[in-house]
Amino acid sequence: MAGRNFLFVPGPTNVPERIQRAMMVSMEDHRSPRFPQLTQTIMAGLREIFRTETGTPFVFPSSGTGCWEAALTNTLSPGDKVLAARFGQFSHLWIDMCERLGLDVQIVECEWGTGVPLQQYEDILKADTQHQIKAVLVCHNETATGVTSDIAGVREALDEAAHPALLFVDCVSSLGCIDFRFDDWGIDMAVSGSQKGLMLPAGLGILCASPKALAMYPSSKLKRAYFDLPDMIQSNATGYFPYTPALTLMYGLIESLKMISEEGLDNVIARHHYLAEGVRAAVTEGWQLKLCAKEQRWHSDTVSAVMLPEGIAGAEVIARAYQRYNLSLGGGLSKVAGKLFRIGHLGDMNEIHLMAAINGAEMAMLDCGVNVQPGSGAAAAGHYWRTHEAPSGLCAMPKPALAKSSAARTNTALAPS
Ligand SMILES: *Cc1c(COP(=O)(O)O)cnc(C)c1O
Repeated sequence: MAGRNFLFVPGPTNVPERIQRAMMVSMEDHRSPRFPQLTQTIMAGLREIFRTETGTPFVFPSSGTGCWEAALTNTLSPGDKVLAARFGQFSHLWIDMCERLGLDVQIVECEWGTGVPLQQYEDILKADTQHQIKAVLVCHNETATGVTSDIAGVREALDEAAHPALLFVDCVSSLGCIDFRFDDWGIDMAVSGSQKGLMLPAGLGILCASPKALAMYPSSKLKRAYFDLPDMIQSNATGYFPYTPALTLMYGLIESLKMISEEGLDNVIARHHYLAEGVRAAVTEGWQLKLCAKEQRWHSDTVSAVMLPEGIAGAEVIARAYQRYNLSLGGGLSKVAGKLFRIGHLGDMNEIHLMAAINGAEMAMLDCGVNVQPGSGAAAAGHYWRTHEAPSGLCAMPKPALAKSSAARTNTALAPS
């Protein structure tokens, strides 16, 4: 097939060529004296993107799901009560894992398209005077619905209730894209993975644990083996791993952390917001469609879930985009299956790259009978991006001057004198 495949699922994301090249290495001895330096570089870089000084990062050869398990099994015991809200497929799957591991989950059911219900969390925590709830779980960015939740608000709810429960956060699709503050928000376990904001292939589970979370280990009775944190801590202390680490991915991770640091984490976050605003303009102003996220405060800067009009099958739009235009969009999962499609706008991304997704999705929608104005998506996104200052990471040259008037846009060399 001619041309490239346009990958816009919200993970795995596009792997920059720089990272691909960094991973093209021969295998080496993971017990060599050189190896600890690699480990230390990674751990220092991870602390920066988690924004933590007190947290301990861990890198597992697994997907993000493995670190959900690591967070739970190293801290809790069978029958322990945990509080969790369900508002999408990923918050659901974490709850499902808790139940399979024998935890007692107090589930707050929320409408899909909304985020963590802060007041309800606070009320529940205040009512739990016996402190039966051992951990509070939150999915920071619900990738299924394009909803970002307020983690600082959850920390406030815990503090308001003076509740000692641990705070566990899934940041698989937010780390390195959306503001995330491990220390400031008093997070105890943060769970992530390699194939979203970190722009790597899938294969690394990334975890960060607070001293308070690590102190739970001796009393925690859930079974664990592969994901045993003390095994990791002991080996990592000397720069090694208890089993063969995913060497190529680790080289890729070093490059990814380097790229984020060169752009500046704040700039990376600003870029995700700026790009997401353009996509949201395309959806709501251009196509006149709705996002699954019910309110602006929940808008995700890494993924937009676009609601299709009644009577349109989401699967058909997604199939058309893929089969006809070589464009991969995300589908609706579970409760929202068939009702929406998702555009992932995280990781290695810029305006023109995103224009491909906007135009491709628009063509696929038109082909499937969705009544959108041709060209309206690109017009609205383009208008947003042209009229707002771009974060520095998007400019090949530093701060290009914007043409202020049509006169300034005239090429004087060609203008009649
Ligand atoms: C992708 C994702 C996961 C699952 O991660 P895997 O690496 O596929 O195991 C969990 N939570 C969220 C929010 C995600 O986006």
